[in-house]
Order: sequence, then structure tokens, then C-alpha cells
Amino acid sequence: MKQINSILIANRGEIATRVIRTCRKMGIKSIAVFSEADRNSPFVEQADIAVFIGESTPAQSYLDQDKIVATAKKTGADAIHPGYGFLSENVHFAKRLEKEGIIFIGPNADAIAAMGSKSRAKTLMINHKVPVVPGYQGPDQSIARLTKEAVKMGFPVLLKATAGGGGKGMRIVHKKSEIEKAIAAAQRESKSAFGDDELIVEKYIASGRHIEFQIFGDKHGNAIHILERECTIQRRYQKVIEESPSPVMSEKLRAEMGAAAVNAAKALNYDNAGTVEFIYEEKTGDFYFLEVNTRLQVEHPVTEEVTGLDLVQLQIESAQGLPLALTQETVKGNGYAIEARLYAEDAGNDFLPVTGTIQKFEYPAVDGLRMETAIRSGSEISIFYDPMIAKIIVHDDTRLAAHRKMQYVLRNLVCQGITTNQDFLLQILSHPDFQKGAYDTHFIATKMDLNALNTKEDLANNISGIAATLHDWNQRNQARSILRSIPSGWRNNFNDAQFEEYQIGEETAIKTSYRYFPSKKHFEFYIAETTHIVQLIEADDQTVRVEIDGMQYHFNIAKKDNTYFVQNESIGNNTLIQKERFPTKAAEKIAGGYISPMPSQIIKVLVKEGQAVKSGDSLIVISSMKMENTIEASADGIVEEIYANEGANVEAGFLLLKLKSEEA
Ligand code: ADP
Repeated sequence: MKQINSILIANRGEIATRVIRTCRKMGIKSIAVFSEADRNSPFVEQADIAVFIGESTPAQSYLDQDKIVATAKKTGADAIHPGYGFLSENVHFAKRLEKEGIIFIGPNADAIAAMGSKSRAKTLMINHKVPVVPGYQGPDQSIARLTKEAVKMGFPVLLKATAGGGGKGMRIVHKKSEIEKAIAAAQRESKSAFGDDELIVEKYIASGRHIEFQIFGDKHGNAIHILERECTIQRRYQKVIEESPSPVMSEKLRAEMGAAAVNAAKALNYDNAGTVEFIYEEKTGDFYFLEVNTRLQVEHPVTEEVTGLDLVQLQIESAQGLPLALTQETVKGNGYAIEARLYAEDAGNDFLPVTGTIQKFEYPAVDGLRMETAIRSGSEISIFYDPMIAKIIVHDDTRLAAHRKMQYVLRNLVCQGITTNQDFLLQILSHPDFQKGAYDTHFIATKMDLNALNTKEDLANNISGIAATLHDWNQRNQARSILRSIPSGWRNNFNDAQFEEYQIGEETAIKTSYRYFPSKKHFEFYIAETTHIVQLIEADDQTVRVEIDGMQYHFNIAKKDNTYFVQNESIGNNTLIQKERFPTKAAEKIAGGYISPMPSQIIKVLVKEGQAVKSGDSLIVISSMKMENTIEASADGIVEEIYANEGANVEAGFLLLKLKSEEA
């Protein structure tokens, strides 16, 4: 087998970055391929060579085998690392590379093929004494036969698409009368998602935990397991948080499940990194094989943190034909690791994926924190790919210490500009059942209060409102070119409080009325019935530090149009939509109202109340950014009221004067 000196990474995002890191460590040249949407992505910069391969749609780039193989040849790549997803479990791709003389960094194509069908996989496992969920995985797909098998094993049962993955094509059937419809629906779903409608039926484990074992094999017949990962915290059958070791693992259970995982690996002549997934029933202590993922998993860092191993390096070495550098006895776990997946999604709105620009991405420097991400401040979360923003992994000596550290990171992480699941992750981490390790795969669906994500306490809303208002105030103040020392909004009728209004979620609206007291150098904010004494300590375009009733708060703020993304360590993320400023509205409503188009100083008032003016007459001269502007009458009329005083500084939208039409 030839030596691997260069690797093309047929993937994107954080996993591309991850593979590049190991390439560097091993002195291997890394070759990135990228699509239109990824042109400015960090992984493209990080690779030694980066080649554009096409449009953003995966079929035209990351899934286009012809382009990827051609690029590998053109750049002289010795091997291809497929990452996860895309072509990572594609049998044809693995076989094609073999023909082309390019090393596929993954298991042999037969192992991938054997696991591509849930029915074949189960049959193979039964033959190798790996416990599987009792069920039917045969060729007779008639409704009569599937129903008969379901009745035999007893309801509830689970229908699964043989070709399925990612939780698609699965259906729980609770009683016999429901099965015919469920079969038809599962077949339809499977046909459209995978082009095949074969189903298996299995006993539904009502309360199960998802526990998986990392396996590793080489081309010399060695196969071991590298401990377990607990991946029970899922939404829609997809993992959100992974931990290792599992809180329910005993040495005895680990030995049994580990042995089953190694049996599964041997059944496949497994020769690279893989994962054997089991469903574990706590009540009975039984565990059952679910599937083997024939690739590096998203959650592999959890295993790396606990064992100190570099799984990508092991993958490269195995692919090159080297014998495994470790034995079962040398694999040792140390401490505790947990991973939380930060997604661009709205957990409070049915986990809807979100797209947009991440204006700011920052996280605290914490010992034992490993941030796997492909984004940076300014990155775009596009519609083309998975909405995962980052994998946050922490390691510590004990489970409790690791959990505490993860919560710290989640409280202090700043990821602003779009909605993320950051607060939702914190909510999971702070749930007592999660902390105890007492959970099953239904934890999120049954224990999480997702509506709570959309409503915050009044105090949190008020404080966020003050932060947003002062951010805006400061921005306006910065924008003024003259008389910086005079607070914005200063005017002669100074006793009038200014105010802003915000909508928070669907149900909450707040109005922050405020006044600045120059002599006391503080603001008074009047929100609902409460008065808050507020000092603006410092602010820039992304942060505000305020002291509210004697307590200091640091806020991170991102503004997009009239939406404020406000984040604070103790409040979490709050999204405020600013309602249109009152003066603008008033001026629009008041016929004949003239407003200041920008923050400005009143230089000269040229008319008097009661004076008749003609359309085009000059009314008021204002100055902004050292430029003078004259406000002219847009119609004939009589000056009804003047609100502008010479020398005063006014904000954009300030109502300057009102004209009454002559007939009125
Ligand atoms: P996929 O290939 O679509 O990911 P899996 O077979 O790996 O499907 O199952 C995904 C998830 O579905 C598991 O993690 C588990 O939560 C649940 N699940 C699978 N099989 C069963 C079962 N027999 N009983 C209860 N839950 C199951």
C-alpha cells in the first residue's frame, strides 16, 4: 500500500476543518473542495490547496463524484476523506476510488454495503450472535405478513424503512387497527426518500437509551471498541447532546456491549472507524443492535477527549494499511466528556431551521473546552447545508464538573444575528433529570418546556429593553457630529420623556420611557409601573455595559434592521423587535407635520406660529454631519405649531413643526 502524503477532503464545514488539523499534525498535504456558498469559509483558507467544484446545491458539488474524483486526480491526492454525510457511506463511491487507485479513508466497500440495508444488517448480526431487537426482517412484504408478525411480537411495534437513515421512514404502531395505514405511509415515505419501500417490523422499546460504541478495525483482522457514547438526548430521532462515559454504564455492561460491538465489527471484517449503535432498555438491562454507521461520527470528539486518541489519525493509518497501534487493553477512559450541538434553529418553534448571518461568534477561553466549528463572525448559515453551527465539547474529571463547565460555556458563548438553540441547550443541562442521568430518548419531547423559550420574566425583558434602548441611544449619539457632550434627544422641552417600544415574542410588548439627568449623569427608565435608575458605563456597536439599580450587566447586542438580538450571561438570548419610533409615526399621522430626517442641530427657525407660507418656502435650517439642510414647505398653509428651538439637538424623526392648510 502506498503512503498517504496528500488527502482530498470531500466535505465541508467543521469536519473539513477537523480533518485538516490532523493532516497538518501528520505532515500531510490537505486539499479542500468547495462550493459557491463556501468560498469564504474558514476550511477553504485552512487547507493547503482549495479547489472550487461547483454550485451550492450538494448534487452539483459535494455529492458530484465525477468532479471530486477529477479534482483528486488533478491535484494528485493519494486519498480521500469523506467526513460524515455526503459520500461517506456511498458504496459506489468507495468502489470507484478503489478502481481509480485512490485510497478511500473509511471501511471496505463490502462493509458499507452490508450496513446499507437494515434487514441485511440485522440478519448478519443475528448470525454473529449480536442481540437485535426482536422483529421481522424478511422478503415477504405483504400487509398480511407484516401484520401477522406485528401481532406475534405484540404492540406497540416500530416500522422502519430498510434503506432508512436519519430517522426517516420510521413509524410507531400502537394497535392492530392502525397498522395497514401505517404500512402504506411508511412505504410511501421510504420510497420517496430512499427510492425503495421495503420495511422491517420490530418491537418498539417504549423507554430506551441510545448507547453507541466506537469501533475500530485494520486491514490485518484486528478489531476493537473504543468505549461508548451516550446519545439518548435526541429531537426527532436526531442527537443533540452526547456524553461519555454513559451515566448508566457499569464495567459489566460495558464488557458485554463492547464484546457485542466487536462481534459486529468482526462480522463485517471492519477495517476503519465505525460506530455500533444499540438501544438499551434500563428496566430489563437488555440491549439491542440498531445499526453500524460506517464512517466517522459527528460526536467522535467525545471519545477523543476521554481517550486522548486522534481518531482521524487512526483512520488515516488504517486506510494506509498499518496495523492498529492499540489493543483493547490499552484503551482507557479518563474523566468525562460532553458535547452539545449548537444549531441555527428555533427550538421554541418546532425546531425550525434558521438561516442568516452570524454577526458575532465568540466564546470564553476555558480549560478543557474544545470548539469544533466552521464559522466565524460574519459567516452565513445558508439554506444549502445542515444548520449545525458548532460542536461544543468539554472535558473534566467528573460528570458534574463537565456539566458545570458546559453550562458556563453556554452562558458565555456569544452567537448573534440569528436564532440558535443556545438557551435550549442550557435548559437541558440544567434539568435535574438530565443531571441525574435519568432519561430516555423521549426526554426532550416529554420533559422540556419549549414554550418557556419564548417567554422571559418581566425583569429580564425590561433589562433587555433598557440595553437595546441605550445601544440605540449611544449609536445615535456617536453619529452626531456636534455637541457630543449633550445627550441625544436633548431639547428645550426636556421634561418630556423619550421612549422606545419593543415586541418580544408574540405576547410581550414593552415600552421603555426614559429621561436623562445630566447633573446626576444617569437615566431614569419608566417601564410599566417601575422606575429604574440606569447608568450607561460603556458601549460600542456590539456591546453595552449598564448599571441598572446598582447591578452591572454586560450585554452583547446585534442589530438587524429593527430586530435586536440581546444576550447576557444571566438572561440568555432575547430577541426584541423595535416598533417604529413615535415621532415619525406622529408626523406621518399629523397632516402637515415636518420631521427631522436625521439626527441634527436646529440652526435657524425661519417662520413664526400663525404665519402664512407658500409651497417651497424655507421653514427651518438644520445641520447634520457639518452640512446644512433647509426644510421647505411642501404645500401652502399656516404655521400651526413649532416644536424646534434654535440650538437644540434633535433625533431623526423628531417633529419640527406643523402646518395647517389654509382652507382648514
Ligand atoms: P436511523 O437509521 O433512521 O437513524 P435507527 O435505527 O438508528 O434509525 O434509530 C434511530 C433512533 O430511533 C434511535 O436512536 C432510537 O431513539 C429510536 N429507535 C430505533 N429503534 C427503536 C425501537 N425498536 N424501539 C424504540 N426506539 C427505537
